[in-house]
Amino acid sequence: MNPLLDFSGLPRFAEIRPEHVSPAIDKLLSDNRALISRLVDDHSQPTWQNFIVPMEDANERLSRAWGPVGHLNAVMNSPELREVYNATLPKITQYYAELGQNLKLYNKFKELRNSTVYEGLGAARKKIIENELRDFRLGGAELPDAQKTRYLEIQERLSELSSRFSDNLLDSTNDFLLLIENKDELTGLPEDVLQAAKEAANDKFGSSDKPGWLFTLKAPSYMPVMQYASNRSLREQMYRAYGTRASEFGKQEWDNTPLMEEIIKLRGEEAALLGFENYGELSLASKMANSPQQVVEFMRELAQRARPYAEKDLAELRTFAKAELGIAELQSWDNSYASEKLREQRYAFSEQEVKQYFPENAVLPGMFKLVETLYGLQIKQASAPVWHKDVRFFDIRNDRGQLVGQFYLDLYARSSKRGGAWMDDVITRRRLPSGIQTPVAYLNCNFSPPVGNKPAVFTHDEVITLFHEFGHGLHHLLTEVEDMGVSGINGVEWDAVELPSQFMENFCWEWDVLHGMTRHSDSGEPLPRALFEKMVAAKNFQSGLQTLRQIEFSLFDMLMHSNFEAGGAKSILQLLDDVRSEVAVLIPPAFHRFPNSFSHIFAGGYAAGYYSYKWAEVLSADAYSMFEENGVLNPDVGARFRSEILAVGGSRDAMQSFSSFRGREPSLDALLRHNGLLETS
Ligand SMILES: [Zn+2]
Repeated sequence: MNPLLDFSGLPRFAEIRPEHVSPAIDKLLSDNRALISRLVDDHSQPTWQNFIVPMEDANERLSRAWGPVGHLNAVMNSPELREVYNATLPKITQYYAELGQNLKLYNKFKELRNSTVYEGLGAARKKIIENELRDFRLGGAELPDAQKTRYLEIQERLSELSSRFSDNLLDSTNDFLLLIENKDELTGLPEDVLQAAKEAANDKFGSSDKPGWLFTLKAPSYMPVMQYASNRSLREQMYRAYGTRASEFGKQEWDNTPLMEEIIKLRGEEAALLGFENYGELSLASKMANSPQQVVEFMRELAQRARPYAEKDLAELRTFAKAELGIAELQSWDNSYASEKLREQRYAFSEQEVKQYFPENAVLPGMFKLVETLYGLQIKQASAPVWHKDVRFFDIRNDRGQLVGQFYLDLYARSSKRGGAWMDDVITRRRLPSGIQTPVAYLNCNFSPPVGNKPAVFTHDEVITLFHEFGHGLHHLLTEVEDMGVSGINGVEWDAVELPSQFMENFCWEWDVLHGMTRHSDSGEPLPRALFEKMVAAKNFQSGLQTLRQIEFSLFDMLMHSNFEAGGAKSILQLLDDVRSEVAVLIPPAFHRFPNSFSHIFAGGYAAGYYSYKWAEVLSADAYSMFEENGVLNPDVGARFRSEILAVGGSRDAMQSFSSFRGREPSLDALLRHNGLLETS
């Protein structure tokens, strides 16, 4: 039997082979299509049992067969698997696109929504139906034929423009090469950066006749130059090249300016077709924030409160640069360099030193203990088929010993695994006729594996990453929802998804927690208090400036998508100038073309959504402040966080969940305080 078609329990990782993929997916897709046409052609009154349940079952089978394939492709990549994955992915995409455009299906949902059956459903089920209807509407299902054609044209053109935007940026980034032949010009750069530059030169020109160091505008080459190179004209040259990528200053064919105008114009037209005032409103229809105005006000208030600190940061930097570095007039290409020197002078401590206090066999039990204390749980290693010998599997049980959820933990980097850290769902909690199906998650990281017989040691950043992903995992695993569409992280608003993950990060800055989960890998001593204080101070270094920078991007993004006419009297660059004169303290030179490389909003999924980074930080910091007020290890507050936020998943609005937990609407104070941007008495 094909192991991908066995839905009786955990994925059978030991048996899954590339040749299983295509037959399993083809069968499920054809079964699902047959089922859906049967459902939509059935003329009886749609109910939860005769319509939604069979659809959920069918889509769950597909995602439980495809999930492990995508997972293995990401963590145990091989040429054979990659080939079959890439060949199958378009079939899956096509299937979901068909569902989204299936008008008969849409009508079935509407029929259910308008019947008396709907009134008898619980809140979670109502939410699932509302979400479905919303997604159909946002996908253009309501449009008359002529407008639908235009809508699809816009979609197609937008995806073409986004992909050209990225290509132009990549091409113009790759176009810049700077060969330095005299090492004296490279003073200040760390040895590993020089080594990489030397290798790049050798790769490019061959090792013998053209010795030197090659620099590019890729982050690992560009950033260290800006941060460490004492050669000011080198910094200026690189800064100019970087800040004018994909603009009118380079090759005309790579200029993103006309693309940006067209993208903004088309998004406006798309929003109008769907009946929204502007694209910002359309973007927020499926998010937690209510209106562009609310986001803009939120950013403006944050800017106002952070501004005095940013001004202080800048004044200190200028004074330091003048006195210590002989830089009389600080320019944009001096900022990172001077900041790095100031940071070294104030907060020198070694990452290597910190790392020795975070061995895996202290960190992991420490994190589990924290969660066990807060939520009254037990986490124990268990056994399950895995994809690699380093992968572990754990059971989470409640205080009565009942299984709540399970997760795989795959911590270390290896060549067959893609980079980054992420959580993914394996099985979602739901009620079946046989009882509750408990949820299962994957937690994946890319940390350094252990060397020799010693346990792996993590940097503090890696520990934060681990807590972050575990936070996503708990959101999925501690859900108490019984219907799949809003269980765990399903159906949670896009700008609220990072709340539980960023919330967990706070504990990594908590003395009471760190004290218990650190142990020097040689001496066995916990983290010293003085080192901890330094880490906290370094974390908040220049946080005023950094906050204003994020606000500048967020405000620019939201205003451009809600209160701006592309191709009108004002250019995109002028809009950015306006935003800067309102909120920024560091103003880049006139030649700088930031928008031309702002991929998040022109080529990524963050259009009218960039604010969500700060938004989620505010929510998570404010939620955490409830623990600070009542004791960070307080199980009563833990139980409340679990039941009001983690347990409810997407079954109700995120704002309602937040307010039920916190007892009020979110406030900016906790985030400001955590970032050192609030005077405390
Ligand atoms: Zn995250």
